[in-house]
Amino acid sequence: MSESWVYAFEEGNGKDKRLLGGKGANLCEMTQMGLNVPPGFVITTEACLSYLDTDDHSLPEGMMDEVQSQMRALEEKTGKRFGDAESPLLVSVRSGSAMSMPGMMDTILNLGLNKDTLAGLIRQTNNERFGYDAYRRFIQLFGKVALGVPDELFDEQFEFVKQQVGAKVDVALQAEDMRDVSERFLKVVNDHTGKPFPDDPYDQLEIAIKAVFNSWMGKRAVDYRREFHITPELANGTAVNVVTMVFGNLGNDSATGVAFTRNPGTGENHLYGEYLVNAQGEDVVAGIRTPKPVHEMGEEMPDLYRQLLELRDKLERHYREVQDFEFTIEKGNLYCLQTRNGKMNASAMVRTSVEMQREGLLNKEEALLRVDPEHLEQMLYPRLDPDYRADALARGLAASPGAASGQAIFDADRAEALGKQGLKVILVREETKPEDIHGFFASQGILTSRGGKTSHAAVVARGMGKPCVAGAEGIEVDTQLRKAFAGDAVVKEGDVITIDGTTGNIYLGEVPMVEADFSEELKILLSWADESARLHVMANAATPDDARRAIKYGAMGIGLCRTERMFNASDRLPIVLEMIVADTPEQRQAALDKLLPIQPGDFKGIFKVMSPRPVTIRLLDPPIHEFLPSEHQLEDEIAHLRQLRGAVHGMEVLADTIALLGAEAPGPASRLPQTIHELGDTRLVDNVLTRKEAILRKAKALREINPMLGHRGVRLGLTYPEIYSMQIRAILEAAAECVREGIDVHPEIMVPQVCTAQELRRVREYVENAHRAVESSYGVTLNYQFGTMMEVVRACMRADNMAAAAEFFSFGTNDLTQATFSFSREDAENKFLPMYNERGVLQDNPFEVLDVKGVGRLMKLAVEWGRSAKPDLKVGICGEHGGHPASIRFCHDVGLNYVSCSAPRVPIARLAAAHANILAGQGREGVATDKAA
Ligand code: PEP
Ligand code: MG
Repeated sequence: MSESWVYAFEEGNGKDKRLLGGKGANLCEMTQMGLNVPPGFVITTEACLSYLDTDDHSLPEGMMDEVQSQMRALEEKTGKRFGDAESPLLVSVRSGSAMSMPGMMDTILNLGLNKDTLAGLIRQTNNERFGYDAYRRFIQLFGKVALGVPDELFDEQFEFVKQQVGAKVDVALQAEDMRDVSERFLKVVNDHTGKPFPDDPYDQLEIAIKAVFNSWMGKRAVDYRREFHITPELANGTAVNVVTMVFGNLGNDSATGVAFTRNPGTGENHLYGEYLVNAQGEDVVAGIRTPKPVHEMGEEMPDLYRQLLELRDKLERHYREVQDFEFTIEKGNLYCLQTRNGKMNASAMVRTSVEMQREGLLNKEEALLRVDPEHLEQMLYPRLDPDYRADALARGLAASPGAASGQAIFDADRAEALGKQGLKVILVREETKPEDIHGFFASQGILTSRGGKTSHAAVVARGMGKPCVAGAEGIEVDTQLRKAFAGDAVVKEGDVITIDGTTGNIYLGEVPMVEADFSEELKILLSWADESARLHVMANAATPDDARRAIKYGAMGIGLCRTERMFNASDRLPIVLEMIVADTPEQRQAALDKLLPIQPGDFKGIFKVMSPRPVTIRLLDPPIHEFLPSEHQLEDEIAHLRQLRGAVHGMEVLADTIALLGAEAPGPASRLPQTIHELGDTRLVDNVLTRKEAILRKAKALREINPMLGHRGVRLGLTYPEIYSMQIRAILEAAAECVREGIDVHPEIMVPQVCTAQELRRVREYVENAHRAVESSYGVTLNYQFGTMMEVVRACMRADNMAAAAEFFSFGTNDLTQATFSFSREDAENKFLPMYNERGVLQDNPFEVLDVKGVGRLMKLAVEWGRSAKPDLKVGICGEHGGHPASIRFCHDVGLNYVSCSAPRVPIARLAAAHANILAGQGREGVATDKAA
């Protein structure tokens, strides 16, 4: 527990974000750095938790006394008095937890205003319009946040007054209009709550503090934390910042803005942001007025712009991180109101990492660690096909890069409902508000017709890595009609549109996309990652094209080539079918003889592309019936063929009858019979029918209740040795041909579904026989490795024995997870797993995130036992978890040599492998297998 519930900005520990929240800690830090921060104080997250902990939600004892003494200190610092009619002190009350949650919790501005203090404010600023404007903003925010009055009730009144005086924009309203608005707002509160608006400033302050505390448990905040996995360890409770108000709306020497120290969309090293003269901060963030780009301040307010650039440099040098800061200029004085680490898209993170390392702000390890591996996925997103020519329907601001197509949906609830059904939707709004967050999660992208690049929609979409086009003013969004109008075009709800967050263009219909490309900076960063990592990163790839893609992504070899994928090609499947329906070994061999000349070509193609990297080829694994059509489908086809045969037979009878008649009465009818005979030949139908019936018989014979645990993998290899022998021979012949051509190859032969060392030793014998034969017939020396998948629990328990018969292990954690949990990998994710995750029975989906406590523990034991028998045993992983960052950290910790994952995840895995090594080197803990489940 900390000593106080409340800390002045001069006292708080700027490093203690858990206690003071990110915003509060930074306000303390900036104050103590000597930056111009309005005076204020922070109420701790501990106070929030203590408040939420009580049944009747009462503030911790003594907290309000501390608040009052801090308020007196503020009065001294500012020379103003809280609640004073002559020189009133006004404050903002802002939330701020340890993790940034933009817009998720509540903030109240201009607190301390009532009829008396308002008169003082007006006298003091000599600006009646400003005074009433501040007052109406306060009543609305306080009314909404602290008293639960719906925003729309205020908005209606505001629009009414605007219409009454014929004002198009807010700034056109005069002082008396604002007074009218504020009086209407007071009435709204009274009508809605049944009580007058609270006038006493300390009452206001206490209610506001409680409202901010309560917002920690508000639906928005709770949803956000769940979506972004913000656990209580990362952030627990919100702090409350009470800060002296400074005003950006005191005239043309006042302004407000938000800026990033570098461009968060591209990473370019220049100040990036927006500002509005004579406005208050919320106007920018809410997108109510469209702000100007910050560089225009260089002309409009040159001296202040210079100060702003200085502020930017100081912030970056101090934090050694890109900052996202808010500023206000009050009558020519620049204040910094908050700063936090800038949320950027992946390209910007990568570029700034590389450039900040070069500028000496960061070392390589820091540059690597600041990029979240999972975030890189964004850089692998599709873009619009640059060759595709389409006329844009409209154009907005390129607010968050990437492109997406989907049905235009005009409210967040419907977007969520359709998104959950698996439909692709684009959320289309005039502007978004934090309560729309669930719609963001469900959408492919976001389109708004108002607001700038720092509006809510833009910031949240960027954080999520979703494309966003904001401020598309050429589009009029009518959420009532559920239509958007752009010139003559109308987009109805459900119409497909495409948005390009990189250019800001909006298109009708679906526009083709192309794969994303690697930037130079990403290549550099990943090369540093490879230097820092111990784990090697391989790819799962089954064709030469896959292999080429894997290399592009920086794979160091192929960790899993699933050979069954090769059999799916249309020229192979009939031969594979022939092999399956074969009744005798001779018939099977005949089919295999047709496959043998084809397979080496497959392997050779991959070896060539990957040379000199290792290529691990797995012998045939899946249940053979997977190559057969379903019994149901076959039965339908057979029934259909039988009908056809009846019809064809009828036609033959008809032809013969006509022929007879024709013989009696020659004429044109005499030519018909032959044509009918040509059309319907029962022999043709009979042949197809016989084949289908044979396949059906085979499918029935091969049917298993539980095929995933059935006749597959090595079991199949031992029952039909000729299949594995053919594959082994093809691999070795392909390698021998490469050796002859001077290509450096490192084939590795891997056996799936093994559960006893005996199985492994038998397959090894096939390999050794084929190896001898190929070496002698090709006259070359051929090196290879032989190893096993570890995807059966028994194999793990017998790892020492298995190691004696293998040079390497590769954990097939897809099957191993299935086997360890006894959850079907085909069904669990659609049945009970979502419920398990939602209700917290299981924290993660074990098919996605390696279950280190169960499956991981088994792996750890198998590695130890395997290496006890063979210390230099190579061990890797090739299940889906091989591309998942937290699982990679675990693989590093238990001493694996490599991870293998699908090609597009290779960059993510490379960075994660580097993180694992760096963090382990720093003694930072990963997830241990022995932690309580
Ligand atoms: C595994 O089981 O983890 C694996 C890689 O094999 P497959 O997914 O092909 O069963
Ligand atoms: Mg498997």
